[in-house]
Amino acid sequence: MTISRFSFPTTIHFGPGARKLVADHLHGQAVKRPLIVTDRGIAALPLLKAFVADLPGLDAGIYSEIWGNPVKSQVDNGVAAYRAHRADAVIGLGGGAALDVAKAIAVMATHPGDVLEYAWDHPQVRPIDQPIPHFIALPTTAGTGSEVGRSSVVSDDATHVKKIIFSPVLLAKCVFADPELTVDLPPAITAATGMDALTHLVEAYLSKGFQPLCDGIALQGLRLLADNLEPCVNFARRIAAGETALLNDEEHREARGMMLNAAMMGGVAFQKGLGVTHSLAHALSTVCDLHHGLANGIMIPYAMGFNHDNTRREAVAAYFAAMANEWEMLRFEPADFVAQGDRVAVLGDCAWKSKRTGQIAESPFAQFFTFREGRIAAIVEMFDTATAVAVHGRPAA
Ligand SMILES: [Zn+2]
Repeated sequence: MTISRFSFPTTIHFGPGARKLVADHLHGQAVKRPLIVTDRGIAALPLLKAFVADLPGLDAGIYSEIWGNPVKSQVDNGVAAYRAHRADAVIGLGGGAALDVAKAIAVMATHPGDVLEYAWDHPQVRPIDQPIPHFIALPTTAGTGSEVGRSSVVSDDATHVKKIIFSPVLLAKCVFADPELTVDLPPAITAATGMDALTHLVEAYLSKGFQPLCDGIALQGLRLLADNLEPCVNFARRIAAGETALLNDEEHREARGMMLNAAMMGGVAFQKGLGVTHSLAHALSTVCDLHHGLANGIMIPYAMGFNHDNTRREAVAAYFAAMANEWEMLRFEPADFVAQGDRVAVLGDCAWKSKRTGQIAESPFAQFFTFREGRIAAIVEMFDTATAVAVHGRPAA
């Protein structure tokens, strides 16, 4: 495998070892003092030290106080770290949380006020109208596609309500998609992040609106995902069981690489839109403090059943047939697709039990979705069922 370079939707260097091209790229941009924004998990790994060692001639600072679902204080502290380091660029290294916080830090490095005032639905939303520092992204999971996205999701510390900042300037100037950064992901994270990518692809494809470019990308992404997610989870399981030689296995690296592409394709495709799975998954992860991908994995079977039963059957059947075709299923039945999604979600030994139970009636899920009259009861029922599974490990009696 060699390193490929392509330019859609931004410049992407893809292949094992692509991370080693970062230093040359930054020198070419006259960057001298980048701030690496990463999460606590990665900061504890030898990977971070090795990455910094591969940045000769650059004085790199590190901000690694990111964990869980990103919150505003993590952004504020990151901006302080950016200023203290007198940084001139931001390197996002991590999963969706680290990349989203990195983007928000880049914005707040040159904009006044509070980061949540830049959320699209803020009553006095502030404009992102200044140039922001050079921002590059290195994904360490194959899930959110945040590395090719134009948004950043940050929650209020107190309420945990998720706020989304949208701007074309949030798109990374360059992505280094290196499968070697993802080969040691544990099985549960591989499955959960993969289910996020799957959900982006499915929901982008199913969402209403005329966007044939995104439709095509979503279907090809689904094919890559169908071929590679399950093998990646199985590789991760075998590595967790002691087969560490698989960390350098060519077939494993290739599967991880294809998952990185599937995730980026999900990130591109959902420019078209997302749907009820994400709406409810955001609520579910707020109520139960769940990983975003896991919440999607829990919600998607119910949401697909809902889509099938509650929309114009004939129109939606064609969409399900096309997706089933990419998944190489024998029959084009939505129920089969649902079962497939369910199976992949369970694959990662995901711990579906939350530490705290939530009051569903008070959940903020309604803010994410404009419900059509007559569908609310069905959505509430679906949400209750999925939440019962998340909280108790089984549907409510
Ligand atoms: Zn997502």
